Amino acid sequence: AKKNISDNFEYFAPEIEEKTTWQLNMIRRLRNDFADRKLQLWFQPQVDLVTEQVVGVEGLLRWPDGDGGYISPAVFIPLAEYSGLIVDIGQWVLEESCRRIQQIKQNGYEELRVAVNISIPQFRDRCFVQKVKDALRNFDCQPSRLELEITESVVMDEPQIVIDALRTLKDHGVAIAIDDFGTGFSSMSYLQKLPLDRLKVDRSFVSDIKPGKSAVIVETIVTLGNKLGLSTIAEGVEKREQASYMIKLGCDEAQGYLFAKPMPFDELMVLLEEKGKT
Ligand code: C2E
Ligand code: CA
Ligand code: CA
Ligand code: CA
Repeated sequence: AKKNISDNFEYFAPEIEEKTTWQLNMIRRLRNDFADRKLQLWFQPQVDLVTEQVVGVEGLLRWPDGDGGYISPAVFIPLAEYSGLIVDIGQWVLEESCRRIQQIKQNGYEELRVAVNISIPQFRDRCFVQKVKDALRNFDCQPSRLELEITESVVMDEPQIVIDALRTLKDHGVAIAIDDFGTGFSSMSYLQKLPLDRLKVDRSFVSDIKPGKSAVIVETIVTLGNKLGLSTIAEGVEKREQASYMIKLGCDEAQGYLFAKPMPFDELMVLLEEKGKT
């Protein structure tokens, strides 16, 4: 039987309303907690696949839930983007990263790079490029120690704005990585136009690597990266055989639970100390 539209509407309306209330509530809490400086920036090591030395870290936001746990950024980043809060939060992430780069240098790990995720609304801010340069200068950072991670969807949103901003920052010395590569289907035509240093192979392709099974996509992505002269890094490496397979394919670096989970900055310093100075 054919359902009429108003039936459907009545059926779905309460659900939509509930979700909106939940979302608005979360956004309000996020705004308050951010203002109260409760957000934290954790760091996940990125290792050279062959030497297993830590060569970089990715900064990842953590929002304490007040109960000893954390609300996943997969949940709150979309809300921060939707509400516009991401512009201020992202600015804090940039400054916090530069502050940490300075501390990392003071601790003797001059070569380590810090990667940060950048969202679409940050690029729409006309002052974005200047803000990045200011943060680097205020904390006396070598620009090449900072890497910006951009997903394909960020590029697709405003290709010219994003390409121009990235070119300026690249000229300044900042490194650029394309994140979650292969999940957007769209980046092929932009690969030549973007001033990229690194290609991050999405976790979904890495987890496809199973014993005895060929991993065509991951192989193709690494080959593509190598042929374009980019460094390649595999995300979400959890198993030894995934790391071995990535080495065999010629992938340079890896990030994943096999090596280390995201951790607070102080723990990162302890880990680096244990591993010996780079
Ligand atoms: P992403 O950029 O793809 O970050 C990698 C995610 O994979 C992180 O989740 C990390 O904890 C997780 N991960 C790393 N290794 C493994 C592994 O071996 N196995 C599994 N199962 N997962 C692994 P996280 O920290 O929950 O972040 C989720 C997403 O939130 C990030 O995905 C990123 O898109 C976004 N995000 C986090 N921090 C920021 C930020 O400061 N700014 C912006 N714009 N987005 C952020
Ligand atoms: Ca990322
Ligand atoms: Ca990623
Ligand atoms: Ca991913």
